[in-house]
Amino acid sequence: MEFKELGLPKDILKAVVDLGFSTPSEIQEKAIPVLAAGKQDFIGLAQTGTGKTAAFGLPLIQHIEFEKPETQGLVICPTRELCMQITKDLAAFAIYQANPNIVPVYGGASISDQIRLIKKGAHIVVATPGRLLDLLNRKAIRLKTVQRIVLDEADEMLNMGFKEDIDAILDQTPEKKRVWLFSATMPGAVRRIANNYMKEPVEITVGRKNSVAINIEHRYYMMKERDRYHALKRLLDYYPDIFGLIFCRTRRETGLIADKLEKEGYDVVALHGDLSQAQRDAAMKKFRERTVKVLVATDVAARGLDVNDISHVIHYNLPDEIENYTHRSGRTARAGKTGKSLILVNTREVNRIRQVEKLIETPIEYKPIPNAEDICEKQMYALMDRVVKTPIDNEAIDRYWPVFYEKLKELHAEEIILKFISTELNAFLDYYKGSGDLNAAQEKGSRVKGREKERGRFNRNLSGTKTRFFINLGENQHMNKGALVRMVCSETGIESYHVGRIDIHARYSFFEIDGEVAPKVLSKLERGVYEGKSFSVSASQEKEYPERGYKRKPGKKKKHY
Ligand code: ADP
Ligand code: MG
Repeated sequence: MEFKELGLPKDILKAVVDLGFSTPSEIQEKAIPVLAAGKQDFIGLAQTGTGKTAAFGLPLIQHIEFEKPETQGLVICPTRELCMQITKDLAAFAIYQANPNIVPVYGGASISDQIRLIKKGAHIVVATPGRLLDLLNRKAIRLKTVQRIVLDEADEMLNMGFKEDIDAILDQTPEKKRVWLFSATMPGAVRRIANNYMKEPVEITVGRKNSVAINIEHRYYMMKERDRYHALKRLLDYYPDIFGLIFCRTRRETGLIADKLEKEGYDVVALHGDLSQAQRDAAMKKFRERTVKVLVATDVAARGLDVNDISHVIHYNLPDEIENYTHRSGRTARAGKTGKSLILVNTREVNRIRQVEKLIETPIEYKPIPNAEDICEKQMYALMDRVVKTPIDNEAIDRYWPVFYEKLKELHAEEIILKFISTELNAFLDYYKGSGDLNAAQEKGSRVKGREKERGRFNRNLSGTKTRFFINLGENQHMNKGALVRMVCSETGIESYHVGRIDIHARYSFFEIDGEVAPKVLSKLERGVYEGKSFSVSASQEKEYPERGYKRKPGKKKKHY
């Protein structure tokens, strides 16, 4: 079906073309003809990301007489972010109308500014319930002339406790009006609003109620509670190209996790109700503009968030209200795209996975938490991609070229590649050094199979009778083979013939010690100070340092991502 078959006037169709919408979505196809005809109340049930804004927005614009200065349309939605988004969308739909005035009103911003805009003659007011009620109580806005009221994300507004506000608002609207209600789900409370304020509404459902998009891959990971945060980091590291949302259960948890991640160098920003409005705006702006790639949010704060191309939704904790899983995962895989919804659970929470499966009527696949090797591989490939795609800025390079050239001219191209890769790889190995397997033991009879058994490939010490140690001192700290042997022997009492192979690198080194005396190294030399720099020694987790560049293991299965 095409937009022009839906009964919309030319000037609105033109705006649709400008927006680049080629065909209407299912809810648009079904809702627009009814709403454009304009005679009936309407209930539209469709999951997030199905294009509900245009489904009500286009016919709403059509019904407004823009030459009259009075308020004819009212859209009520749960959050400030959504309020601004809808206003923006409506303005785009109304681009070919004469002087449309669409005013958003929401809490946390100057009410007097909003009053001024309303006084200028708002054709449509887009409001959050609390602020609208406030304006009504101050008599700053009158709803007598309102002909059409849209309740967007009705289920969420009720979840957020706006029932009384909505009742109070609807009680002040004229008897003769149309109500258009949009919702992802139809719980009893929404049904009651419909019964109280709507007359014989046309009800249309798109897809299954409560369902989530089929192009979302649902997975869960299981760890011990104390490893939850580490597991989260593994996932973030495993998906270097993530543009995603992390959902936490409370504002406090959201703040804590975001802070921790940020301190550890992750590009994240928090969005929750304890932040000031300005902070929330700044967070949203950064995320929208992709200056940060991950938004850590509460359910409420992220509600209605319309950001496209979200690749991953991570449930740091499942929501208390299991129904909210649908809203959360609906943030990804919008407008026909695919996405992943990843759930972290501890061993006692597996039964909640079953609840979610029931809710979404889709099985959720168990996945092992990626180990260091998996992550390293992913990161290295991502790096290669970045390198290949990086444009060369000749002008900028000219300045440094002579020095670079002088330093590198002796090396073969292949050697440069190996060194370049190793620089990055070493940093990773270093970072993940000693990190083990976070997958929690599965209970008997759980459906988990396969891969988690092959855990720890990276972490086994394969050096036979010798134990390989890592020390975070290298050439840069003036460490060399002789000095290392001297230090190890004098500190531990181990004879020098027990010291095996030594590899000195720029910032760290490896050394091997015969197995029978190896325990002494950790007991006597775990920490210390060398030439003023404190160091630590640990049993190396690497089988062997890949001196010849990073090679994929032969026969290893290609990962899918
Ligand atoms: P919902 O309110 O159902 O969650 P939105 O109205 O926010 O969904 O729309 C989701 C995204 O899909 C928006 O970015 C919107 O611009 C886009 N969109 C809506 N309708 C169409 C269409 N017919 N063709 C292409 N993109 C669309
Ligand atoms: Mg919407």
